Amino acid sequence: MLYLTAIPLLLMGCSTNTLTGKSQLSLVSETELQTLSAGQYKEFIKAHAVITPSKDASALMVQRVGVKIAAAVEKYYSDKNNKSALSGFAWEYNLVLDSAINAWCMPGGKIVVYTGILPYAKNENALAIVIGHEVSHALLQHGNQRMSESMIQQLGGVALSTALSKKPAETQDLFMKAYGVGSEIGIMLPFSRKQELEADRFGLIWAAIAGYDPNEAIAFWGRMQQSSSGQKTPEFLSTHPSDETRIEKIKTYLPEAMSYKK
Ligand SMILES: [Zn+2]
Repeated sequence: MLYLTAIPLLLMGCSTNTLTGKSQLSLVSETELQTLSAGQYKEFIKAHAVITPSKDASALMVQRVGVKIAAAVEKYYSDKNNKSALSGFAWEYNLVLDSAINAWCMPGGKIVVYTGILPYAKNENALAIVIGHEVSHALLQHGNQRMSESMIQQLGGVALSTALSKKPAETQDLFMKAYGVGSEIGIMLPFSRKQELEADRFGLIWAAIAGYDPNEAIAFWGRMQQSSSGQKTPEFLSTHPSDETRIEKIKTYLPEAMSYKK
């Protein structure tokens, strides 16, 4: 009997990612996560100093890159007859005044770039690499996998709606950690090496379709690695761990990305 009931439970706990075609752990539905994201994003924006694009060239650049990367993703999905996978996306792009070297994208396309990362991004091509990478984590549902793992470990694998109604503070905390949107270094969960490389690979493709130069990824990650030789590890590297083999891997992804360039 146990055998019979265990199978549907296991099946329920996995979903197929439309981008990779691979099955992955997903205890919470992407729709539920998008709803949660929309609320958390609104609160984050309210609590932070958002720089308005009409008054600032960098904020305008963040918006321009965001719009182009979103259009590139939509084109790719549409070319693959997969547009329904993006139906819950309501893209938003904001630059916030914060010295943290960080950027992220919540489910549903809710993007934040911190002013602290701009000196490392340095130019629009590199910003496209950053945003492309973050958007890939959201599309690849990496946060969903981490959220699902945490919910199994800490809340006993209950449904997201149950967790939110019974333990709202703990559930929101798990969400912030899973998506790297918390403010304390050390409590945010790092993405795995495999997830990082997967996000790198697709991020380069979005940058190429959007008309940016994917080769800039090499220079950007070089600058990020140099920054880690300082006293403080940037938030971005704490959630997106990097090592010397990453740039070598990125080089092998470049031909594929360049084939998408017009
Ligand atoms: Zn990453």
